[in-house]
Amino acid sequence: MGKLPRESRSWGEKCGVVGVFAPRESEPARLAFFALYALQHRGQESAGICTSDGSGLRNLTGMGLVNQVFNERDLQKLRGTLAIGHTRYSTTGASRAGNAQPFVVSSGTELGGLALAHNGNIVNVGAIRTRVQALGGQPKTATDSELAAHLVARTPGATWRARMEAALPLLEGAFSLTMLTRDRLWAVRDPWGIRPLALGRLPGGWIVASETCALDTVGAELMREIEPGELISIGPDGVETSRPWADNPKPRAACSFEFIYFARPDSLVDGQLVYATRERMGEALALEHPVDADFVMPVPDSATPAAIGYARAARIPYREGLVKNRYIGRTFIQPSQAQRETGVGLKFNPLPEVLRGQRIVLVDDSIVRGTTTPRIVAMLRRAGAREVHLRICAPPITHACHLGVDTAPEDTLIANQHSVAEIRALTGADSLGFLSLDGLNRAISLDEASLCNACFHGRYPMPIEGRLAKLALEVGASRD
Ligand code: AMP
Repeated sequence: MGKLPRESRSWGEKCGVVGVFAPRESEPARLAFFALYALQHRGQESAGICTSDGSGLRNLTGMGLVNQVFNERDLQKLRGTLAIGHTRYSTTGASRAGNAQPFVVSSGTELGGLALAHNGNIVNVGAIRTRVQALGGQPKTATDSELAAHLVARTPGATWRARMEAALPLLEGAFSLTMLTRDRLWAVRDPWGIRPLALGRLPGGWIVASETCALDTVGAELMREIEPGELISIGPDGVETSRPWADNPKPRAACSFEFIYFARPDSLVDGQLVYATRERMGEALALEHPVDADFVMPVPDSATPAAIGYARAARIPYREGLVKNRYIGRTFIQPSQAQRETGVGLKFNPLPEVLRGQRIVLVDDSIVRGTTTPRIVAMLRRAGAREVHLRICAPPITHACHLGVDTAPEDTLIANQHSVAEIRALTGADSLGFLSLDGLNRAISLDEASLCNACFHGRYPMPIEGRLAKLALEVGASRD
């Protein structure tokens, strides 16, 4: 396994997927576009939409934000009654245009082509690659998602349903997928239910999306979340459902980081409003790590509900001491460490009038590599804060994620290398408190057995093949 220099590895967030079936709408591509727009926070590197008009698939992908990739003319060209879409941040494979999704692959039969959009990470890629090669599939990229598409398209079966039901159970890992065949929309959620996926009703059809906020954005009514291990197929006859893992069910493993950081606060995940779970994380933090202070403030925006919860439980006023430039993407979208460091300054500006002479509780969602936090603490001190008490809504992140969060290498996670006391010193805070695992689980209202908390303790829901580094696939591919 070759290693690239650390700075060249991007580290970011997961992807967003959508699927639209709208026979009476003239423009499923337009609905997919607006749904992707609502899922922009899940991936800012590339975007794509594939449509079908019953005869063939049209695919358009590009690098950048959703509204940089598509213009009015593109949407008009993407004709059809079916569409799937994707926003990507690389979890496997380097950042490049050819890796943008959806992927369109051929079945090699009269069934036609298959388009696939993937949120998650497949962990048994070696086995899947061997199988795909044996079946005659020829992946063009080094991504796990394209391998999954070839696996489904090439697995023998008279119908698409037969192919999917035979192929999908071979995949191990995290996958919320939307797929398109000539005349049907498909969606599946891995049997562990790691990543979210929801089903909504449109006036003339159906929509599937990673998060319910995308359904709200296009005026769809939430029907329900797709269940772990459920495959749904949508056509003119409505929604059909099947359970390819019925004989081999898996334990639930919902990603707790969706609640802590990734999902939008206005989304429902596992039936819970993410905003409310974050408020509860803040309340629990106040009970676990009380401190005497003048006010509580968040690192905006992801920690805002938690800071509100902390302030309420601690009976300390809530104020805002940092203003965020909303037009700068998340710090992580920048590829180099040097750029990331400048990124923090570009992103936040402190309010000295508010901060001067004050003892503050600063609430943030997580500390990952520990790049952002010390800079923010220093910025607050320069603006006059007298004491900065750092409170974090997640336990220390000690292990890499292999299931769809594009983590930094394990040895760059600050809590993998340092104790809490050392992290406090490195951040320059007066005190530091992390939410306990128990407190987190209670705030999410799921028990440890139903959550994937592997980044906090290293117990993954399934074996991770060779504990692959992100670019292992990429390096392997160049040798082929
Ligand atoms: P750092 O400790 O400097 O690595 O950055 C941690 C901050 O980045 C957190 O406060 C989050 O707001 C944000 N963050 C956490 N996880 C991720 C991720 N996987 N991708 C992008 N940003 C993240």
